[in-house]
Amino acid sequence: MAPAFWAQAPRQVSIALTNICDLSCAFCYAPKNRASLNAATVIAWIRELDANGCLGIGFGGSEPTLYRKFPALCKWVTEQTQLAVTFTTHAHRIDERLAAQLEGYVHFIRVSMDGVAATYENLRNRPFGTLQKHLRIVRQLAPFGINFIVNSRTFPELDCAIQLAAEFGAREFLLLPEQPVRAGGGIDEATLQALGDWIPAYAGPLQLAIQALAKYQILSTKYCSQKHKNRRKAVYGFDIWLIVIY
Ligand code: SF4
Repeated sequence: MAPAFWAQAPRQVSIALTNICDLSCAFCYAPKNRASLNAATVIAWIRELDANGCLGIGFGGSEPTLYRKFPALCKWVTEQTQLAVTFTTHAHRIDERLAAQLEGYVHFIRVSMDGVAATYENLRNRPFGTLQKHLRIVRQLAPFGINFIVNSRTFPELDCAIQLAAEFGAREFLLLPEQPVRAGGGIDEATLQALGDWIPAYAGPLQLAIQALAKYQILSTKYCSQKHKNRRKAVYGFDIWLIVIY
């Protein structure tokens, strides 16, 4: 395609609003100082992205729901720009009150769920039943997907986790092979190989995505145009993901 038709802005931009989190997962890659971005700065960036045709903004951090002006920021983006709003969360702060503040201002939510039951509880130090309770609120708020850290502890529960996510109404399931950081050693070679064998055989109920590793690449079967009439639909309008193993 000729450069004249190239998009002026990235399709999707992720912004880590804050380094604050109330959990302390061993595999967390986020910095542990309590810094947060200035709201006026974030708004200026978003205005510029919107003016140049960016499709969506993804809020993360550590835990974006701990950002002081989070509901107001989501509301502002939805009302003042054409950008879709998504965020990644552990979901434990999404109660009825926060959901009411966010309702209508979020287009997709990514919920972290690593393993099920005792595995989840050991990794996240939160009751799995509490996560399930919050997932019931999340699914009323917006379409959502699951982020799943894959390591030797969680891999055996992958099929069970996908089934559970489907029963809760998740739209897709993102596999995140654990990266080595701090106390977390990362995914080991045997588990990585097992994951590589598991992916081509997958025939489960949810569409999959996988974070790129040296051995993997994600391809989407449907690319969106910067001239799409509804940018918010364009961001999450993909049909299926293909996973190509090198
Ligand atoms: S919930 Fe997420 S941000 Fe918080 S410590 Fe765990 S991995 Fe890090």
